[in-house]
Order: sequence, then structure tokens, then C-alpha cells
Amino acid sequence: MALKAADIQKRLPDGGKKNCKECGLANCFAFAMKLASGAIGLDRCPHLDPATRAELAEAMLPPIRRIAIGQGERQVVIGEEEVLHRHQKTFLRPPGLGLLLADTEPPDRRAAKLKCLSQWQMERLARTSRFDLAALASASGNREQYLQLLREVLDQTRVGIILLAEEPGVLLAAYQASKARRPVVCVTAANADQVLPALDGDTVVCVRAPDVEALAALSTRVQAAGLSDIILGTEAGSLSDLVRDQTLIRRAALVKKYRPLGYPTAVFPGACGDTSPVVLAAAIPKYGGVIILNEMDEARFQAFLTLRQDMYTDPRVPPTVESKVYEFNRPGRDASVLVTTNFALTYYAVAGEVENSRQAAYLVVLDTGGLCVLASWSAGKLGAEAIAEMVRKHDVASRVDRPQLVIPGLVARLKGEVEDELQGWQVVVGPREASEIPAFLPELLRRRHAN
Ligand code: SF4
Repeated sequence: MALKAADIQKRLPDGGKKNCKECGLANCFAFAMKLASGAIGLDRCPHLDPATRAELAEAMLPPIRRIAIGQGERQVVIGEEEVLHRHQKTFLRPPGLGLLLADTEPPDRRAAKLKCLSQWQMERLARTSRFDLAALASASGNREQYLQLLREVLDQTRVGIILLAEEPGVLLAAYQASKARRPVVCVTAANADQVLPALDGDTVVCVRAPDVEALAALSTRVQAAGLSDIILGTEAGSLSDLVRDQTLIRRAALVKKYRPLGYPTAVFPGACGDTSPVVLAAAIPKYGGVIILNEMDEARFQAFLTLRQDMYTDPRVPPTVESKVYEFNRPGRDASVLVTTNFALTYYAVAGEVENSRQAAYLVVLDTGGLCVLASWSAGKLGAEAIAEMVRKHDVASRVDRPQLVIPGLVARLKGEVEDELQGWQVVVGPREASEIPAFLPELLRRRHAN
């Protein structure tokens, strides 16, 4: 939303002082407030003249258009970014990660890529990440060969489709065959005249051109053809080219409000298809809306997903995990019971060390609003009452023979209070550092058995 309520009010009838209430609101300023927040449409005011209506509609468009690719639970939404730098606010929409498949690749390589697209996924910070898109390249120029690749992707995966074919006949045949999945159609200056008239108005078009100036010219042509959902496709040849082009586009959209570049971008591997993964990885913090990888390698895939998740978390909101009782190493009646907070970094540090200890354990994770142990204790979110309530709520006592609760060493002072709150439990002060847990838990078990 580019306009503030006061700016909108000045453009309303009688300079925003008509106050006729026909929009259902108390006055023009109330209407302007609702309009600025997106809670009401321009059509609710019957007194706007067409020129003002068009001016307001244009001014209220986000500087980078929102684009949805694909359908259903695998749909990827990009665009609507508001800042140049993550620390200014946050980056909103994680880029879609895609895998490039060419119709000339050997069958075993194609089968392996299809398997990645349908099966690879990674759980981290309570989120599931995976490949979102398949970019299909017509390297053969043969229609039947390309359609065969498309059929296999449609049959074996549910990812969004990006169609990359120079020859208009091949491209449009694939477009018709995959319309139900709402494919992204890539066009160039060479095939735009034949392709654009054959596309439905709601088709997402990815324009591809050798430089930013040519991209702006091509996106203007696509707009003129009545298609508004546009992605700006660049090639990642070198790191400096990528950073320069992506920065130019983002600055033109946000700072200059230059409409022909007011769209999310897609970054493809260079023409030879072997662009360094470092270059492609740089597209994650550097504004890539869609990033297409050529090589599949599980370690690289995980690195990309981790970087994407880290860049697209809100720096103002601490990462958290679900507050519940987690089980490690098949806990039985002799398992240890530990307490920690739901700050993700604390949880993963503790959980990793409990796992490494190979000792059966329950980990009671309190909702401390994403604060670590000391901060949550200082804020009054990690106290004896909260710990006792969580232990009782999940009936942890019924899971073990000898109720013994390990509290973090950093809040050792809570020991007495927790024992008062949790009648029948023995409270033990655990290590101050998670790294001490693998040595601590076996010793705790030994002492339990000795008593
Ligand atoms: S209908 Fe239009 S002119 Fe009347 S109060 Fe609402 S915004 Fe103002």
C-alpha cells in the first residue's frame, strides 16, 4: 500500500470533506483509513470521478506485484516485497525453489529429478520445506519429446510448472496440455508476438531478456497484451551480474516506482546450465522470487532451504517450536524428564544433545514466547508455577516410575519453588550448557539406580 490515509482523503470528493456517509462509514476520513488498510474497495464511494478512481487504484498497487504460481498446497506466492534490506522490516515471501529438467536428459537422470521433486523435503524450525517448481526446458525443439517430459512431471509430481521453450508451437502445445496446473509461460522478444495472443488473461508470464532494459521493454509489451501477472527472468551468469541486475530491479520497483520492473524476479542458471551454486544461492538474499537449480544434490538442496528459511524469517519475531512434551530415544518408565523453553535455538541445542546422549528422555517444552531460558525467567515466563502447570497438564508423572525433573542449570534458583509446586517430584538442577547433557544424563540414571 503506497498511499497513507491522509493522502487518500485529500483525493476524495470535496477534498475529503463531503462526509455524505453513503459508503457506510461515518465520514470520508474513516473511508480513507479503511481503504489504506485494504479493508474496503474504491467502489464503495459512489462520488469518485473516473480519473480520481483510476489514479487511486494505480497509486495503491503494491510496488512489486503479487504473483501466485501453481495451485493447491504446493502453490508458491511471491512479490509484494516492501523493503530493500531485511533489517528495515522483513522479507515477506520466500522464493520458490525449482529444478531444471531438459527433454534431452537421460532417463535415469530425469527419473532421479522427478523423485527429488516429489519426495525430497526437510523439516526445520517446525516447517516443512521442499522443491516447489519444475522448470521444463525444450532442448530438443521436438514437440512430442517436450510433451512427454511434461506428462511425466504432471503425472509424478504436484509442483508448479515453468515452461521454457523457444519454439512457439512447442510452447503453446505444452501450455494447453498443462493449463489445469496454471503453468508459468516463459516468453522472449523473439516469440512474444506468436505466444502472447494465445494466452489466457490470468496466465503468469515470465519474460526473459539479456539485460534489465530489455526486460522492462518486454514486460511493457506483455502488459499491453492484457497480461498483468509477470515475472522478470534473469540468468545468473556471474555473481556480480546477478547482484547488479537484482539490485537494479528491486530499487527501480521500490524507490523509483517504475512499473515495468514492479514484478518479482526469476533466476535461471546461465546458458550453459552449470552456474555455480554459490551464485544461485546469492539470489536468495538478493531478491530472487524464483530460483531454478540445474544440479540436484541433497546437501545443496538442504543448504538452499536453510538459507531461504533463515532469510525469510521475521527478524522481529523469535523463532519458536511447539510447546509440548517431546520424546527421545524411545522413553520408557525409566526415562529422564527435562524442562526447557520453546525458543527454537534453545530447543534444538537441548534436543540435539539429548538425542546424542542416547538416553531415553522426555523434554517438556514451555511456551515462553520464543525467549531463551534466562530471558524468559527474567520476563517471568519461566517460573515454578508455569513449569508445574505444564508437567501436570501433560500428566508426565504417569509416564515414569520415579518422578524426577531436571531444570536448566541457569535457573537453579527455581529448584525449591518447583518442588513446592510439584508435590511428589524430585527436582534436579541440570547443566548450564546443553553440551554437558550427554555426560549428565547417564550419570543421573546411574544415581537413580544407586538410590
Ligand atoms: S461515500 Fe465517498 S464522499 Fe461520501 S463519506 Fe464515503 S468516502 Fe466520503
